[in-house]
Amino acid sequence: MTELFYHTDAYLQEFDALVTAVLPDERAVVLERTAFYPGGGGQPCDFGTLAVSGAIYEVAKVKKQGDDVLHFLSEASPLPAVGSASHGTLDWARRYKLMRTHTALHVLCGTVFRDYGALVTGGEMEPLKGRLDFEFETMRGELVREIEKAINQEVQMGREIRVNILPRDEAFQIPDLIRTKINLLPEGITHVRTVEIVGLDLQADGGTHVRNTSEVGRIRVADYKSKGAINKRIYIEVE
Ligand SMILES: [Zn+2]
Repeated sequence: MTELFYHTDAYLQEFDALVTAVLPDERAVVLERTAFYPGGGGQPCDFGTLAVSGAIYEVAKVKKQGDDVLHFLSEASPLPAVGSASHGTLDWARRYKLMRTHTALHVLCGTVFRDYGALVTGGEMEPLKGRLDFEFETMRGELVREIEKAINQEVQMGREIRVNILPRDEAFQIPDLIRTKINLLPEGITHVRTVEIVGLDLQADGGTHVRNTSEVGRIRVADYKSKGAINKRIYIEVE
């Protein structure tokens, strides 16, 4: 079971951890703890490097498997041994862009729900670019500039972002979480991680976010597409 630093400290860029398992066929290692985000909730996994016993491996893919996080290592050196001490370093420039982008998408989601009552059905992001799908029957081209203005106002207000890990029963009592499909969480989950943009948005979410919306920077609504009468897709870019 890997301890997930990224759940409690999104700003941790480097860490020390013991190698607890090695999967030779996949060229992957499990660490006792990690700051590498394994991907999920629309946010892609982190990249970076892992230094073990004098060798430096590129980490080009990270994946969650059960309670473990697998770090896939480059071919440069033979795999390390179980029990080795390692030092992980994130590609921080990329990760920080993803944090700003992920928070920007929550700003969009919260603003569109508040102003139009539209619910999100899905989303995706890459560094500084993302999209959300909404059940948003009244969306039309003329609203693009209005939405863009409203989300940038939220960014400029400097809203604080709070991360909490709550017991399941407590999380299920928060009415705002119901709209983010918390009901679909598997029975076995005992705790729910929440991300709150204070005064704007509260969601069950596993991703990494900036501490304050002022870190996001300017957001541009780059495009929107109709995916049918009800489903609309909004694309953003973070400058
Ligand atoms: Zn999210």
